[in-house]
Amino acid sequence: MKPYLKTTPTRDGFFGDYGGAMLPPPLVPHFEEIAAAYDEISNSADYIRDLRYIRKHFQGRPTPISYFKNLSKLCGGAQIYAKREDLNHTGAHKLNHCMAEGLLAKHMGKTKLIAETGAGQHGVALATAAAYFGMECEIHMGEVDMAKEAPNVVRMKLLGATVVPVGEGAKTLKEAVDSAFGSYMGQADKALFGIGSVVGPHPFPKMVRDFQTIVGLEAREQFFEMTGNLPDIVTACVGGGSNAMGLFSGFIDDEAVALVGVEPGGTSSKLGEHAATMTYGQDGDIHGFHTKLLLDEAGEPAPVNTIASGLDYPGVGPEHAHLQKIGRVDYTVADDKETLKAFYELSRREGIIPALESAHAVAYAMREAPNHPGKTILLNLSGRGDKDIDFVAETYGFGE
Ligand SMILES: *Cc1c(COP(=O)(O)O)cnc(C)c1O
Repeated sequence: MKPYLKTTPTRDGFFGDYGGAMLPPPLVPHFEEIAAAYDEISNSADYIRDLRYIRKHFQGRPTPISYFKNLSKLCGGAQIYAKREDLNHTGAHKLNHCMAEGLLAKHMGKTKLIAETGAGQHGVALATAAAYFGMECEIHMGEVDMAKEAPNVVRMKLLGATVVPVGEGAKTLKEAVDSAFGSYMGQADKALFGIGSVVGPHPFPKMVRDFQTIVGLEAREQFFEMTGNLPDIVTACVGGGSNAMGLFSGFIDDEAVALVGVEPGGTSSKLGEHAATMTYGQDGDIHGFHTKLLLDEAGEPAPVNTIASGLDYPGVGPEHAHLQKIGRVDYTVADDKETLKAFYELSRREGIIPALESAHAVAYAMREAPNHPGKTILLNLSGRGDKDIDFVAETYGFGE
């Protein structure tokens, strides 16, 4: 591993000023147990061998890098490449950490995985891991989200998970987090809480990042083999920030490589109309850790809005807040409109229908390419767009 990854976060989970673990007292011993188990297995040859086997023979790793010849020509300027996390089993990078969390749970002697899900992508990935390891799975989901994302509810049930409908408040992600945490508190002896991004109390931001570093490790080697160089710009969409940390971690010690996180700009820069935490947010606490947040006038997490429901979170992983503060990563915004255009162009020009989340990174690459002739941009295609095609076609048609 590289020096940055070895030295960050601190042992108690701080990325500079951000991170930490603010937990209800009954959960403290359980999170300490998780941190200790992770410390142990991350140095265990058995665990590393098991994870390698799973990645190769179940997930379909390594995923390739593709050169987007047609898109590069269309944009003019930089040459655009993509790390193809859309080719993972279940269609996104999320399985990288869900399988590792399942393996950790098994090592700890747990028999159940619990989590919340918003759009259902994390729930499907965790239910997949639970099926693979022969564990029970309990996924909490807001009733509004269940109606909107019905196919993912079907997938979770087919995979053997119990989907718990959450009818409180706005009946979406925030209420689902509270409900899942409540349920976990009562059964933390036998269950592991499977957090879905580089968020939550320590050790999850570190653990999930480490599980995702495979993306960057592969990409660095593959890109070098393809081009004889490292990329000039490496970019990824940022919701909680796990796919971005995965790709960035491969290049974080290469100072000549610019790292750019792309946040969902939604429909405008007005609070409530975007989900761009790094760009417009302020320091605060959410769900047991210190990070940047979008807050309303009352100091509560603000409503967020984006075309990509997987980026719909008023917080962000603490490591991103840190990397922005130390100036290692720049953050920018792609709005719904340019994201949709990127979704259509990538589909039509390259034969790849991207997830709307990933299309934010594509939009940034398309916008930036003309400014960098002779350079290269590597983006993370975090997931495929099968889940989005009905919504896009019904709402916006088939593009010009
Ligand atoms: C969930 C999801 C994201 C957002 O999660 P991060 O933790 O920010 O990576 C991005 N892309 C896809 C395809 C997703 O499913």
